[in-house]
Amino acid sequence: MSFEKFKLDEKILAGVVAAGYRKPTPIQAQSIPPIMAGKDIMGLAQTGTGKTAAFVLPILQRLMQGQRGPIRALIIAPTRELSEQTHEAIEQLGRKTGLCSTTIYGGVSISNQINRLRSRVDIISACPGRLLDHIGRGTIDLSSVEVLVLDEADHMFDMGFLPDVRRIVKHLPAKRQTLLFSATMPGEIRSLADDLLRDPIHIQIGDSAPVMTVSHTFYPVQTEQKTALLKDILEKTDTQSVLVFTRTKSRAKSLAEQLNRIGHKVTSLHGNLTQQKRKQSLDGFRDGRYEVMIATDIAARGIDVTRISHVINYDMPATADAYTHRIGRTGRAMKTGDAFTFITGQDAELLHSLKKLLGEKLQYQNVEGLTVSPSASDSMGTRTAQLTRPNNGRKLFSSRALSSRRPNQRSFKDADRMSWSSRAPQAA
Ligand code: AMP
Repeated sequence: MSFEKFKLDEKILAGVVAAGYRKPTPIQAQSIPPIMAGKDIMGLAQTGTGKTAAFVLPILQRLMQGQRGPIRALIIAPTRELSEQTHEAIEQLGRKTGLCSTTIYGGVSISNQINRLRSRVDIISACPGRLLDHIGRGTIDLSSVEVLVLDEADHMFDMGFLPDVRRIVKHLPAKRQTLLFSATMPGEIRSLADDLLRDPIHIQIGDSAPVMTVSHTFYPVQTEQKTALLKDILEKTDTQSVLVFTRTKSRAKSLAEQLNRIGHKVTSLHGNLTQQKRKQSLDGFRDGRYEVMIATDIAARGIDVTRISHVINYDMPATADAYTHRIGRTGRAMKTGDAFTFITGQDAELLHSLKKLLGEKLQYQNVEGLTVSPSASDSMGTRTAQLTRPNNGRKLFSSRALSSRRPNQRSFKDADRMSWSSRAPQAA
């Protein structure tokens, strides 16, 4: 299938070609025709599937006809970074259309936004809080909105934004097209969809399992050994861009400082930073100035950095869904990637859910002197590091993805490492 089949305006097709998209991803193939036909959509899609273009292209197509000037499309997203990315996708795909897009989110000057809103704007990418602020001040007119997109709706729910979203929707025309995208479908999102969508087309790309192009390696480790293990991995692994997740902002900051001190090009992304600093971090990570970014969940939600080769869960995420979101930062747009997860005794319950989710894709990894036995993971909190298991002859650590992608780079010294399949008898 090609993009020509959608019969998009040639100015939009020019944007698709300029973006380098050769053929539609599955979610684009399934959603673009019904969205262009004016249907409401409930899209259950993993991150990195190309869902932004799946809704941006039909929006551009619709807006090519009719009046320019009033805000006719509103995209609501949980984070500033995601709003920026959507805006950038609109600018890129719609560069020849003459349609105008802008972002609305907090942490930056509201008067600049008010000025921008006074000029012609066709499409808004917004976060709920600042958008409500504009609504309250009367500085935005949403009475002409024809299409509403709720992107990463499950994240908005996690972040407590659903009441805000419902308040915003009251300011939109009842007659509109509504598109809801979510990577997971908790009950609250279903009920939001029941309230807001009219006779929606349900589209599901894969299930809630993490993208299959990612390998999943777990390191059973004592909490106090995590930093040493991270340093060891960074030193010995072929990486391109590495995104490391911590549970807290302070840990993200201090870990970044520690890695910086030993010469890594590292930045951090967390909620304590100003919007300007967050942007600098993300831009630097995107363009390769920083090889490592240490982030918290909230800050890293939805970020699109296509070249991330490794996601490292320094701290285990809170839920299996959060794991899916985190590792969705790598393996994007059909590329491959590796997810490494440090597990401690406190993580036994979630480990159990992840084993069910990942099945045979879950592999354990031992690093002599730094990890503990995977079979000890349920009681690891009280165990001390030990373990020397025989190598079972399996390919070690450095994944197929890396070896095929970067053949000339130094390869991981796997002599020091051992791995287990989750099916192996010694696995937990
Ligand atoms: P998304 O899931 O919308 O965040 O998209 C993930 C990445 O896939 C982005 O970097 C997009 O630019 C890229 N992408 C979207 N659609 C396509 C396509 N049809 N072909 C290749 N890359 C794409």
